[in-house]
Amino acid sequence: MTASIYPPADRAWLDVNLDALRHNVRQLRAHAGVPLVVMVKADAYGVGAVTVSRALGVPFDGSPATAEAPWGLGIATLDEAAALRDAGCRARILCLTPILPTELARALLLGVRPALHRAADIAAWAALGQPHGGRPYHLAIDTGMARAGVRWDQTNTLREAVRAHPPEGVFTHFHSADDDLDSRDEQDARFVDALLALGDALPAAILRHSDNSAGIASRTRQSPGALARPGIAVYGGMFSIPLGLQQVVHLRARVVDLREVAIGETVSYGATWTAARPSRIATISAGYGDGYRRHLSNRGEVLLGGLHCPVVGRVTMDMVMVDVTNVPCAIGDVATLLGTDGTATLSTEHVAEVAGLSPYELLVGLALRVPSRAISSSPE
Ligand SMILES: *Cc1c(COP(=O)(O)O)cnc(C)c1O
Repeated sequence: MTASIYPPADRAWLDVNLDALRHNVRQLRAHAGVPLVVMVKADAYGVGAVTVSRALGVPFDGSPATAEAPWGLGIATLDEAAALRDAGCRARILCLTPILPTELARALLLGVRPALHRAADIAAWAALGQPHGGRPYHLAIDTGMARAGVRWDQTNTLREAVRAHPPEGVFTHFHSADDDLDSRDEQDARFVDALLALGDALPAAILRHSDNSAGIASRTRQSPGALARPGIAVYGGMFSIPLGLQQVVHLRARVVDLREVAIGETVSYGATWTAARPSRIATISAGYGDGYRRHLSNRGEVLLGGLHCPVVGRVTMDMVMVDVTNVPCAIGDVATLLGTDGTATLSTEHVAEVAGLSPYELLVGLALRVPSRAISSSPE
């Protein structure tokens, strides 16, 4: 167990291991071989964007960037950028999603680098910055994701706009880099074609970037271009990639009730679990209202004293019941619903799979109600 002293009153909380977070960023940086834009959208995948950004050493008011700080941060909405700026964050911030022309002025005020891909928006962005003009933006190219950006085979239509107002960076996004290298290669090739079609309209020093977590992990050499943009792997949600990544998020909750149930008695809504032997049942104070999803009913397991205890019956909004017939435990004990307890770990990928979710959805859902606190991996 990495955490030492549990706050006595908390019913459920997230332990966020900032050492593991920094370790993961170092591993990804080393494997990518290029500086990183760490994605902190959706409140850093539920982990806490300000906490994460501070832990990574990006500049904040009164604290300069550390030597390990990433090149920048990636977000998806201007409100996310505002929350970071309000906290004093002075890092470069890229907004990777398309924003509406009406939002450009706010992006400028927030010092955000928008992703643009329409000639009119590029001209409007440049005009906003007058008389200094030419605020940094990144050109978004769609190489097959079909979500945002100019199609790879239509970048020639932007040649004049790009020549007049050159972007700082140009990027694309993979749809299947985790399980289909052919599709990644095809997107790589389309990206190259898209840049060739822009020809000398693009500045020579432009920052190219394409790799998300799966993209970084898929390379046997360094990431192409000048930057890479990991998200899920930073937060320990992509364990299966061979980069020695660590679990960052641990969901803990208390044993708040204990009972014996006789053979034939049932547990929880819908009576979906029936005791086949005299059983001891512990009630844990977290449920789907805390992001512990209902699909884990009769499927999931939690750790108590490092031992696996199966979930019995339906997960309810605020509580979940587990079978502790062979596990010593008492009221107030701390259960681990996700993460590490002793030598046992329920990894984010594993729990997400049992829950019928992607690791992204599992992590983002955890911040619904429970507070987070930072822990470190240093020995107790
Ligand atoms: C979310 C996102 C990423 C990060 O993806 P992961 O799979 O979490 O590493 C990178 N780039 C863009 C454009 C994104 O939207």
